[in-house]
Parts: sequence; structure tokens; C-alpha cells
Amino acid sequence: MEFRRFAEAFDRLEATSKRLEMRAILVELIRPLRPPELERVLYLAQGMLRPEYEGVELGVADSLARRAVATATHTEGSVVARRAKQSGDLGTTTGEMLSEVRRLEEGPPLRVADVYSEFTRIAQASGPGSQDTKVNILSELLVRATPVEGKFIVRFVLGTLRVGVREMTILDALAEAFGDGSKATRAKIEAAFNLSSDLGLVANVLAEKGVDHLSEITLEVGRPIRPMLAEREPTLGEVLKRMGGRAALEYKYDGLRVQAHIPRSGPVRLFSRRLEETSAQFPELIEELPRAVRATPAIIEGECVPVDPDTDEIQPFQQVSRRRGRKHDLARVQAEVPVCLFAFDVLLLAGKPVYEKSFPERRALLEEALTPTEHVRLAVQKVVSDEREAQRFFDEAIAAGGEGVMAKSLAPGSAYRAGARGFWWIKYKREYTAGLSDSIDGVVVGAFLGRGRRAGRYGAFLLAVYDLKKDRFESFCKVGSGFDDEQLAEMPKRLAKWETDDRPKEVETELTPDRWFRPQLVLEVRGAELTLSPIHRACLGAIREGAGLALRFPRFTGRFRDDKSPTEATTSAELLKMYKSQVRQETAPSSPNGN
Ligand code: AMP
Repeated sequence: MEFRRFAEAFDRLEATSKRLEMRAILVELIRPLRPPELERVLYLAQGMLRPEYEGVELGVADSLARRAVATATHTEGSVVARRAKQSGDLGTTTGEMLSEVRRLEEGPPLRVADVYSEFTRIAQASGPGSQDTKVNILSELLVRATPVEGKFIVRFVLGTLRVGVREMTILDALAEAFGDGSKATRAKIEAAFNLSSDLGLVANVLAEKGVDHLSEITLEVGRPIRPMLAEREPTLGEVLKRMGGRAALEYKYDGLRVQAHIPRSGPVRLFSRRLEETSAQFPELIEELPRAVRATPAIIEGECVPVDPDTDEIQPFQQVSRRRGRKHDLARVQAEVPVCLFAFDVLLLAGKPVYEKSFPERRALLEEALTPTEHVRLAVQKVVSDEREAQRFFDEAIAAGGEGVMAKSLAPGSAYRAGARGFWWIKYKREYTAGLSDSIDGVVVGAFLGRGRRAGRYGAFLLAVYDLKKDRFESFCKVGSGFDDEQLAEMPKRLAKWETDDRPKEVETELTPDRWFRPQLVLEVRGAELTLSPIHRACLGAIREGAGLALRFPRFTGRFRDDKSPTEATTSAELLKMYKSQVRQETAPSSPNGN
């Protein structure tokens, strides 16, 4: 195919932002193509030469490209620089300048294959003199290019192809160009892409063999799988509910996701969540993985976190990020901050894909295949079926240095879903509670009758904090989660002696519970954050007129504070302080965890 067609299609793509139109342009462009031209055009369309995970880069800086443009158009570098500054885009300037030079003779048109191989030469140029080599290759290409071709050649080498045809649009176009365009076809194409991370490969199979052969694309060591992603829920109760009341909880380690590809022989390769190769960053993993994992070739996934070599405790994530992109000094950083990979999944074992098995089956395989070593271990896991157990595990995970828990479905359909975000995995992070790391001791002033499973019992309780100055108990939340059956059952007994018909005069709230109690019983609760509330009366008007403070997503920690009298409960003043410190925390920058 002539490169002109590609450049013109890109010109048209640039003029529209409508997905349907983009798709139509792409379909027209790729339909006549066959491998290897097809894959090349698709990579080029995404601004790449090879699938992203191969990390092939052209390494052409602005200044290099300007030199090439100057040479190709017989101008001074300073002129090119000035004009590029004016237009704001060297690609556009190149197009304009090429249209101004009179070409002596029309050579044969550039073909996609020519451009692709010259780009590849640019990417491969390395070592001393490689800059000049790159300039030469590029300027020779530009001499042969038409203005519109030149524009895109320059943008491509600079990595500034503005059109940025997204993967999803290309998948749409493939379904239409080489299939029947139906949803089912589109889904098959996407599934093959998620497993191979290689649009070129998928397109080749599709164009040569047809949709039905896409299922032949499977896992291969050295080719990363697009990672399965998690949904979130605001409370552990909802997490469990989503999972049908029972789930595997794992520590959620706060580090870098690692997909480890372990061949039968040869070097282990590691890929990040974004499918970039990270092997060079973690030599200790490369070394230990072949010993830790039997039954190769294998692909396992885990989270890599820094671990204190003396105490064996998990360290803050920031420590591991110091290793990112490091080439020098890695040995020192490695000694200071060794990492440990906590393996949580297995996708390929003994050369056989196992990603379609249910999660419990995969976990069993992982446990069997993994012999823990210093730097490679299993993610801590527990199967839980009630909220209190889940809460305890969550607290344990936090105490162990995790950032929360990851709940995993145990259902028969819990296969590894490459590239998909769904409720098969649900994350529940401390982030939600980071604004409020303290627990609150609240006094029970009312109860609400339960519904459903809790019918005939109390289902939730109205809690208050104590206002020392006014000598009043002001409500701040209604809490129903965190209680186990036994605790719920004993609540009526515990509260009976304080029950009154009407609101005790020392209690302030806009809510009307089914039962009122004189403030006596103290419970410890935790929650996600304190928010302004129109119905709760704690700290009324302190932040905004007419608004009190409320605890969002409150849950009982399981601790009755029988050791505290009601006036020793958390005070309104303390609550206000917590609210204010939480606001400050929210404005603090969060860690740039690209994970
Ligand atoms: P997030 O980055 O907040 O969307 O959370 C998902 C990420 O948590 C995954 O991509 C993993 O990198 C990380 N993670 C930590 N521990 C686990 C675990 N036990 N199972 C799955 N993912 C985990």
C-alpha cells in the first residue's frame, strides 16, 4: 500500500472526533490489507512499531527532527525552529515547508513497507553516531515524502500523532472490516486482544483465518496478558453481599503489580500492569522465581512490595517506586529496599493455560506450584462468610502493612477475565478510611427495628457524641453494620434498662428511632469519613449553619466500651477536630501509584 493512503486517512481522522466516522475511515483503510502490511498499519496507527509491550521506541528528540526537516528542505535549523514555534507543531510546519520546496523529480511513491522499515532502522540505531544516523534516515524519508506524508512522518517519530486512534476504535473497525460487525464478533476480537495484548496478531489471524480461529490465540510466555481489574464497594458488608455472602479475602498489598513470565529455561520476564517490561528493576525476583515456581512454563501474577530486611515488615510503597526506571545504583537500592512478590494468581502452569479455571481452582494450583522463598511468597488469604470476620481480616491486613483487602469471588464462573473490570474482584481500601484513621466511641441513644434477616430485632442504632459544654448528646450516625448475630441478639438485653418512651431531653437529633434510650451504652465505631449532615446534630453549625457532622459508612468495630461512661465517650469537640484534620489530609498529594 502506498503510504499516501495512510497519511490521507490520518488527515481525515484528524478532522473528526466522531467515533463512527473514525471507524468508517479505518475500515476503508484496512479492509484491503493483508499481513504483514495489515499489522504494520495498525501499529503505525497507534503511533507504535510493535505491540506496546515490546517497548520499541524511536528515540527521536525534537532537535533531531528539526535537523532532519532542515536538511530535507534545505533551510536553516533556526528557521525550522521559529516556524515550528509559530505553528505549535513541527509536523504541520514540515508539511508546509515541504509544499514550498520545489521537488526536482518525482520519485516512486513511498510505500507503507518503506516507511515502516526506515522507522525500524531509526529505532534500532544505537551507540555513538546514532543521532546522525537517525537524522539521515529521517531526512531521506522526508525528501521522498509529499507534504501530508511528511506531516505524519514527523509526528510519528516524535510520538505526537494527535489523532490517537484508540484500541477500542480499532477493535470496532476490525470487527467490521473482517467480520460481520456484530457484537459477538467484536467480543471475540476483544477477548483475543486481551489475552495477547497484540492487535497486529489478532488482526492477522482474523484476516487470514477468520473469526472462528481467534480462539487459537492463547497465552504465551513472554507476551503479557492484559490484567484483570477490580471493582469497588463502599463497605465490607456490600462487598460480601455482592459475592453472595462468601468470598476469599486477600491482603491488598500496595506496591507494583507484576506479571511474571517464567519459561522452562532462559530468563524470567516481568511486566507491569501497563504491560511495560520491568524485569531490570527486580533482579531478586528474576533470580528466585525459577526456584519458587515449579511446573514451568508459567505465568503468575502478584504484587511486589518493599519489605524491611530486618523485621520482614512491609514498607510504604514509596520505597519501591524509588526503583522505577533505575539503571544505575540499582544494587544499592536493592540492598536497602528488597522487595517481595506476593503471588495472587496463576494464568499458565506447566505450559497449560489455567486462566479459565475458577478462582478457587487457580488458588489451589498456585499454592501447590509455589515454594515460598525470601522474595516470592503467597498473598495472605482467608475465606470469610460474615462481615465481622471480614472486618477482622481487614484490620489484620492494615496492621500488616496492606492498604486494604481484595475480595475474590469463589463462584464457578470466577475465571480470570483478562482486561476486564468487574465484581469478581472487589477492592476495599483503607483510602476510604484514611481521612479518618481514628475510631469513635459513640453513645447509643436510639434503635431502629431490623428488616429482612434482622426482622424482629434491632437492625441499627442511633449514636451520639457528648457535648461537654452543653452537656448534651448529639447524634452523628446510624450504625447497622459490623455486628455479628450474637452481638445483635444481645443488644435488646443490654439496652432494656435504659429504654424510655420519648426522646430524652439531653439527646439532640432530627431522627426518630423506633426506640429511645437514655445515653449509657458506649460502642466503638469506625467510618470512611465525616461529612456535613442535615439530620445529625453533632457540632451543629460549627462548619456550616444548620449542618451537623455525620460519619459516613459507619460500622461497629466489635468493641463494647463498657469501660467508658457516656460522658467519657468521644466529645463533639474531638469530632470537630477529626473533621478538620481530615479536610487537611484530603488536600495533601497522594502517592503517584501508577498501578
Ligand atoms: P487499584 O490499583 O486500587 O485499582 O487496585 C487493584 C490493584 O491492587 C491490582 O492491580 C494489584 O496491583 C493490586 N493488588 C494488591 N494486592 C492484590 C491481591 N491480593 N489481589 C489482586 N490485586 C492486588
